[in-house]
Amino acid sequence: MNTTPFTELGLPAPLLEAIEELGYERPSAIQAMAIPVAMAGHDIIGLSQTGSGKTAAFVLPALAKIDVNRRKPQVLILCPTRELAIQVCEDVHRLGSKLPKLHAVPVYGGAPIGRQFRALEDGAQLIVGTPGRLLDHMRRGSFDPSEIKMTILDEADRMLDMGFREEMEEMLAQLPESRQTMFFSATMNRGVEGLIKRFGKNPQMLQIERKALTVESVEQRHYEVRERSKVEVLCRLLDLEDPRLAIVFCNTKKAVDECTEALLARGYPADRLHGDVTQQMRERVLQRFREGKVEVLVATDVAARGIDIEEIDIVFNYDVPQDPEDYVHRIGRTGRAGRSGRAVTFVFGRDLYRLQNIERTIRQKIPRHRVPSQEEVEDRRADVLYDAVRDRLEAGSFQGHEAHIERLLDQGHTATDIAGALFTLLREATSTKGQSIAEDNAGPGTVNGGKFDRSDSQPHRPDRNQERSNSYAGDMAKLFVNLGKTHGINAKDLVGMFYREGQVPDGTLGHIKLFPRHTIVEVPEECVEKTLRALSKAKLRGKPFMVKRDKQA
Ligand code: AMP
Repeated sequence: MNTTPFTELGLPAPLLEAIEELGYERPSAIQAMAIPVAMAGHDIIGLSQTGSGKTAAFVLPALAKIDVNRRKPQVLILCPTRELAIQVCEDVHRLGSKLPKLHAVPVYGGAPIGRQFRALEDGAQLIVGTPGRLLDHMRRGSFDPSEIKMTILDEADRMLDMGFREEMEEMLAQLPESRQTMFFSATMNRGVEGLIKRFGKNPQMLQIERKALTVESVEQRHYEVRERSKVEVLCRLLDLEDPRLAIVFCNTKKAVDECTEALLARGYPADRLHGDVTQQMRERVLQRFREGKVEVLVATDVAARGIDIEEIDIVFNYDVPQDPEDYVHRIGRTGRAGRSGRAVTFVFGRDLYRLQNIERTIRQKIPRHRVPSQEEVEDRRADVLYDAVRDRLEAGSFQGHEAHIERLLDQGHTATDIAGALFTLLREATSTKGQSIAEDNAGPGTVNGGKFDRSDSQPHRPDRNQERSNSYAGDMAKLFVNLGKTHGINAKDLVGMFYREGQVPDGTLGHIKLFPRHTIVEVPEECVEKTLRALSKAKLRGKPFMVKRDKQA
């Protein structure tokens, strides 16, 4: 993990202020390497993937070079696509928010050229654009390159792949000799080498060493979650997974603050750790976390360093980490001391590149799972209630209310109605208010259910109650089994039995829904008869049982 703070990279105060406001806690590996070298005026070859923070690695030194009092183009950033040009320009505005006189424009093909003329005439100091359109402006004289001090080729390999070689060469040849050049590329090949040879001046090659890292004993998955749905999905997963201790990792201090506030507002025992939390406070938070008074710790990578707590059940990557190594550090906090840990990563849009990068590093796939629905969470809460009531009954600790119960019975209410009313009251009292989110309408194509699969040997391991859908496309039938939770049955037993004794073809079992006294199991319609016959004399956990077609199906 990189430990150099932003303040040691030689960046001017207004840029540090913007970084602080964005809540970036520390530079990513490529930023820590590239910024000081660029600030010293050297040319750079940065071999770096999207998602590594490479944009800020070149935008920050570029902004540091600009004289905002001169209204002439001073920095030129070349990008392969219009989308990337827009994104990079957005990052320029974010990182340059404390430079009031900064004027940066994106220039790309397919947009009206007239508006671009005006923006360029208006005295843009930084131009981000695609090679074709930029060359067009250069030829027409609307872009004057005579005062360019720095030029950046972002995704140089892709620009070459897209056939921009001639445009790039013609343009680079017209820039002042004295300029500084930064070549960023995901890969190195002959084409890129040729460009560097011709247009670079003793460039320093910067590359992040990638050790192959492994993470064992941690079950990993990812969810596709939009930024605005993250809190809701986090809460659903916390309810479903019911961890004793969980850590939620965010990439910025700002995100840590926002996430903690949202969790507290919804009644979760959460607290935060980031670089602005004082040492004294940090000790207190960690102590409370260790004791279980705080169950959800929201933290940045830096702040979580050195936390030595063994019983963390689950790690959430609320944001995908910048460096795969951070991912490994993060999820290594669970699954310690022989426990099986769980790690969840929220991914959306561009994050997918970062996830793929991580998958390459750890040489493992991190499967995508379907966001659990509110109903699944409700079912789970109902289960927890049921278990709690049963435990009380078994422990015999429910005395002291006889007078009230007698009165209700005298008023003609049955014992079942009274118990039902109490269940409802309890449920209302323990329920947190969930929200509908866009992810609830995710169509097919997503896989798996809400909870973690803990039985590696079972391709279809159901969770306690609600089960995921299978890959089988034919009609499904519902079977009724007269054993349920009160008989100590769990879904895993049923899966094993239906596949083995019930002769249901592998991978075709559908939902399994456990009720207190019975269970509904979905099997392919075409094997109902065979399965009923095969199971007619079977026993489950030593008990004979009855299985038949569900009448309500
Ligand atoms: P990039 O690889 O440049 O596309 O950046 C990926 C994402 O990381 C962008 O959304 C940036 O806003 C964010 N980012 C860049 N640098 C940092 C940092 N030092 N700390 C936290 N987030 C960052």
